Amino acid sequence: MSVVDAVRECTNRIEQHDAKIGAFVSRRDADALNDARSVDERIAGGASSGPLAGLPIAIKDNICTAGVATTCSSRMLASFIPPYDAHVIEKLRAAGAVIVGKTNLDEFAMGSSTEHSAIGTTRNPWDLDRVAGGSSGGSAAAVAAGIVPCALGSDTGGSIRQPAALCGVVGLKPTYGRVSRYGLVAFGSSLDQIGPFARDVRTVASVLSVIAGHDERDSTSADKPVPDYAGELQKPIAGLRVGVPAEYFGDGLDPQVKSRVTEAIDTLRDAGATLVDVHLPHMKYAIACYYVVATAEASSNLARFDGVHYGHRSVGHDNIIDLYAASRSEGFGDEVKRRIMLGTYVLSSGYYDAYYLKALKVRTLIKRDFEQAFQQCDVIASPVTPTTAFRIGEKSNDPLQMYLADIYTISANLAGIPAISVPCGFDDKGLPVGLQLAGGWFEESRLLQTAHTYLNRTDHHTKTPELTGTN
Ligand code: GLN
Repeated sequence: MSVVDAVRECTNRIEQHDAKIGAFVSRRDADALNDARSVDERIAGGASSGPLAGLPIAIKDNICTAGVATTCSSRMLASFIPPYDAHVIEKLRAAGAVIVGKTNLDEFAMGSSTEHSAIGTTRNPWDLDRVAGGSSGGSAAAVAAGIVPCALGSDTGGSIRQPAALCGVVGLKPTYGRVSRYGLVAFGSSLDQIGPFARDVRTVASVLSVIAGHDERDSTSADKPVPDYAGELQKPIAGLRVGVPAEYFGDGLDPQVKSRVTEAIDTLRDAGATLVDVHLPHMKYAIACYYVVATAEASSNLARFDGVHYGHRSVGHDNIIDLYAASRSEGFGDEVKRRIMLGTYVLSSGYYDAYYLKALKVRTLIKRDFEQAFQQCDVIASPVTPTTAFRIGEKSNDPLQMYLADIYTISANLAGIPAISVPCGFDDKGLPVGLQLAGGWFEESRLLQTAHTYLNRTDHHTKTPELTGTN
């Protein structure tokens, strides 16, 4: 099929299905078809058409796209049109991928359900009465519903892996520094990473090879060679040591999730891996540590949205302080305000040492836990989330319950290690369950090989949702 046909198929599917799901914040049907036409011409002309030539892709709406609104699903940025492309967007375009639209998220990527979006809630394609997870819920749902073969998200504490698990697709958070954050609207700068979603590991690997690599505009992006991740997928995993941390299988884990993940780990053993017990003793502090570090960074990063430098500007004020206060009060939603207040508090004089500095020390201990574990194993296997997709509204009034949805994903961000979520079955309501595989720093290749081997031996990822609700 031509690239135009492929892209038209995606735009038709948005038209057919997205009213039910709410995955997209904006579409670029005509522009996408134009882009598709030029990729078709490049292919016909025999010119090098790029490794992702013709791949339709959806982009989380906190990644800057030149000339295309980038709202972060916030009233604050409702009319922001970036004058430049994020690094990953430049790379995707050069590789021949075609951007079909921007996807919904929890406002500024703060949340685990895509309910904290000023645009609307994204619904889970497996049960439209349930959440798609978050914060990259739009990207995960768009891939799960078969609207696009691939999407980009961002992950600060689980925002790629958790929605991937709840929607039954593959989602990768790369090593911190593997992918440039230039043009990603900052939330927690020491935690944020961009990564791909797809139905299979091969697509995730191909996209990662394109978007990874050094970029001088992000001083934390690593100057390390980028492997041909898709080319290395076939390497056998025989002899691989898979670490199983008891801390990830304790209280609070739904028994059905536990069973599916345990079965998945057995499948890896059958494929030639050796299972080893590992320990991550500081894991119990991960959520507390994250909500100090991430909110501190968010309060600082979001200071720029004051209605003057950037963002929504309130009208009718005769002094600058009232203008700032009103612009921010009107522009930000409740969860974002909560994060700014918490972050400002933990950084304030008198509390800085007790909270922020202490959290940084705990972060080092969590990182050390992983360093020690990776002396005994190559990959760590665990659940991604404690439960399958919850009902829309179920946790909206209880921030702590919502924060606990990321209990197994957050430590990878604190340590900076890569981790992937792969579909590993369903619960008795037919809702997807995810297996998380985490690897050592810059060990994406091994992680992808392990995930690929697992998917080759199972068929959960080939199942598709019917797009109905339970009620
Ligand atoms: N759910 C977590 C939070 O609300 C993580 C979000 C993310 O990874 N962007 O902060």
